[in-house]
Amino acid sequence: MLKCVSHASKVLSAGLALGLMAVAPANAAGDKPAWSYEGSTGPENWGKLSPDYAACAIGAQQSPVDLTGAVEAYPAMPSVHWRTMPLRVKNNGHTLDVIAAPGSFMMLGTVLYELVQFHFHTPSEHVLEGQTFPMEIHFVHRSEAGDLAVLGVFVMEGAANSALEPIWALMPKEPGEASSATLIRPTDLLPDDGALDRYAGSLTTPPCSEIVTWSVYLEPIEASSAQIAAFSQLFGANARPIQASDRRFLLRSD
Ligand SMILES: [Zn+2]
Repeated sequence: MLKCVSHASKVLSAGLALGLMAVAPANAAGDKPAWSYEGSTGPENWGKLSPDYAACAIGAQQSPVDLTGAVEAYPAMPSVHWRTMPLRVKNNGHTLDVIAAPGSFMMLGTVLYELVQFHFHTPSEHVLEGQTFPMEIHFVHRSEAGDLAVLGVFVMEGAANSALEPIWALMPKEPGEASSATLIRPTDLLPDDGALDRYAGSLTTPPCSEIVTWSVYLEPIEASSAQIAAFSQLFGANARPIQASDRRFLLRSD
């Protein structure tokens, strides 16, 4: 009898422990309210969805912006050291993340930023002198201190982009991850011309944290209309509208 109780109790505590383990991540995710690109959970309301998202509404250096009125200057230019890497992708419900293998980084001045992931927006989030592009790629880097540096690349409609082909082929249709032994070379998605605009901004998704040094290349790369459509049909319009520049300086290299 005692043995039975003891056994039941062990099973119960094991079950409880497992239950807690299973519940904890779900609760952690549940603490962050769902957001979207339209309606009551759309960009106009992000700041009201959670105190954690307050910066989306009251921030003073939000992204994206219209890249206009730039000051010609000599901003520190990114020195990109990205490796060829196996392809790993994640449909996070808002965009497609290509998750970087460790070891790819860029230098900005004396600070090293590790490449974490890159992802896509249709249409572009940044606007260049009033012009919106059909797509924009964001290469997200993080420093040891936790600051982010993002390289933005506009995509215009043109020739099919062979560097996107393996990524698109692996794109999960539902939220979730996929990986393959296919090697990709992210540098193939950078424009030839390194001229860029630099400004201090934020994440373009909740919580809109103002921790991002933005570098947006002025020269677009190309992708076919079919490639752009394949992405936008899956994710819809996933671009935050442009934000007030709030007297920030925009630096343009030549
Ligand atoms: Zn982005």
